[in-house]
Amino acid sequence: MARVLEMDIPETMKAWVLGDPDQLRPVEKHVPHPGVAEVLVRIDAVAICATDLEIISHGSPALIDGELPFNKNFTPGHEYMGTIVALGPTVDEYAVGDRIAVEIHAGCGRCPRCRMGMYTSCLNYGANFGAFPKGHRANGYTTDGAFTQYAVNHVNTLVRVPDNMSDEVATLIVTAGTATYGLDVLGGLVAGNSLAVTGAGPIGLLGVAVGKALGAGPVILTDIVGERLKIGTRLGADHVINAARESAVEAVQRANGGSGVDFVLECSGAPRAVDEAIAMVNRGGRVCLAAFSHRPVSVDISQIVMNNIYLFGIRGEGQSAVRRAAALMAQQKFDASPVHTHTFPLSELPEALRHAREKLNGAIKVVIRNQEW
Ligand SMILES: [Zn+2]
Ligand SMILES: [Zn+2]
Repeated sequence: MARVLEMDIPETMKAWVLGDPDQLRPVEKHVPHPGVAEVLVRIDAVAICATDLEIISHGSPALIDGELPFNKNFTPGHEYMGTIVALGPTVDEYAVGDRIAVEIHAGCGRCPRCRMGMYTSCLNYGANFGAFPKGHRANGYTTDGAFTQYAVNHVNTLVRVPDNMSDEVATLIVTAGTATYGLDVLGGLVAGNSLAVTGAGPIGLLGVAVGKALGAGPVILTDIVGERLKIGTRLGADHVINAARESAVEAVQRANGGSGVDFVLECSGAPRAVDEAIAMVNRGGRVCLAAFSHRPVSVDISQIVMNNIYLFGIRGEGQSAVRRAAALMAQQKFDASPVHTHTFPLSELPEALRHAREKLNGAIKVVIRNQEW
């Protein structure tokens, strides 16, 4: 396929910026220039994440100039894909015209955690300001995000999007990467192991899909919304359990032949979720927490110790998990498209956010088309 050599790049772009909590307003910003090892991305689509809603209302975990992100000309949004329109110096890994999805966390690249591949746990998180900026970058968290039309990104954070994948589905690659990272810390080689996923939001649904693609079985999904469980079945769940109607712990055990499962990927953030996850795994089992509750919760530690249960927390999409998720999707090991439910132009971002926040009309992943204003 002939590659476009140059693309028209405007001087300015439309961008939403965060004022006071819950106040977004449209402004014009300068289109940034890519530096060494960076590319300029024309953002074609961005998915709204629950963390965006958290940042827009409460600030954390975004950190701009070492402070909460309010009134700092900050643009949120982090689950995006687009087209490369300009290359910075030294870039030969990609060409103008390539379609790519973007990992959220670039990290600083120089701290011990980044060197281990744990760049979502960078020890210089937010240290991209002040007299000695350490170069840390997390789109929509510590640097400008994607509720705009162009962004600069390091080549390390890019993954290719195949021609036959839609922009909307490509925004889900990063979320599938988070699910993949969760399965990674649970053991990686999950083939033949039983897996329960608690919570059928985007990460949970894609956790089902990735777990199934990697050969886990049975894969059991729990949630309290029947419509979401139906989507879980489409993504490959062997059993779905409505926790509003029956005990999730007992139903998971029943679905696994009367015994606890090997792994739980906890994606609900429900107050009792940790205790229930501990009760769902068998002795020596592993639980990965990919969601958090808004208040501290109490946990029955004795069950963890007496049963030798491993408990992990993950942040985002470390260890190049996004590349592996992208490979599974490019090889069509699963169809992520049922997770995408709504599409809005960038000009209607507030309405799109309302759909995501209130889960209107069965909203799961709401996607913005960034070049439509
Ligand atoms: Zn997200
Ligand atoms: Zn680092």
